[in-house]
Amino acid sequence: MWIDSHCHLDAAEFHDDLEAVLLRAAAAGVDAILAMGGGAAPGTLDGSCRLARRQPAGSLPRLCAAVGIHPHEAARAEAASLTELRQLARADEVVAIGEIGLDFHYDLSPRDCQREIFEQQLDLADELGLPVSIHCRAAWPEVRQVLEPRARAGRPAAGVMHCFAGSETEAREALDLGLYLSFSGMLTFAKAENIRAAARLAPAERILIETDAPFLAPVPHRGKRNEPAWVALTGAKLAELRGAALPALGDQLAENFNALFAPRHP
Ligand SMILES: [Zn+2]
Repeated sequence: MWIDSHCHLDAAEFHDDLEAVLLRAAAAGVDAILAMGGGAAPGTLDGSCRLARRQPAGSLPRLCAAVGIHPHEAARAEAASLTELRQLARADEVVAIGEIGLDFHYDLSPRDCQREIFEQQLDLADELGLPVSIHCRAAWPEVRQVLEPRARAGRPAAGVMHCFAGSETEAREALDLGLYLSFSGMLTFAKAENIRAAARLAPAERILIETDAPFLAPVPHRGKRNEPAWVALTGAKLAELRGAALPALGDQLAENFNALFAPRHP
């Protein structure tokens, strides 16, 4: 019924009990999980792929993988990292490049370096025909500056603004660029009225949900380690906000996920 379109199953927080976490996800009606890539240096980028390959075929939840260099890690990337990403991205389990983007809140990598790695990975996604999962924090004008010329040139990035937390205006601008909006547990936070407004205005065929686990656990688990099972709480909140019936919303979200992340290797 639910798909967690963005989480970090390779995080240290899941090392000890991943099997139990996946069982709870299945019990909560989570059919599929998209595990984001981690690492930046060559040899550290394949955690999500290894997890997806380990899950027995036919078992639930189905695991698929993204590979990519997070903006926090941009300074650690090497030329060989991009070569390795290109290779990893051709594997069957890989359905996206992510997460990639700009984070000018934490500024853990120099901004010019973040921008360069973001652009290179957008080029790679374009080359391979893969969608992207975009991280944007305190950097929407700059992310837009990167994406707009691509859209104008007829090569728009196919992708999703993961963990959307911007204003209504930003939501409209992202939608105008053809992007999907993915809502996390923040949708349930008391002060997140801007996110709820975006969740109401987005067209049904452009919304996704995610946990971003182990981060951002929804209410009533806020502050704890998040896990994919709790994407159901965000789904329920989204249904309430949009006045949507529950099974129908789950079907719509699955349809959206499959439309964006269908494997399309050349
Ligand atoms: Zn993330």
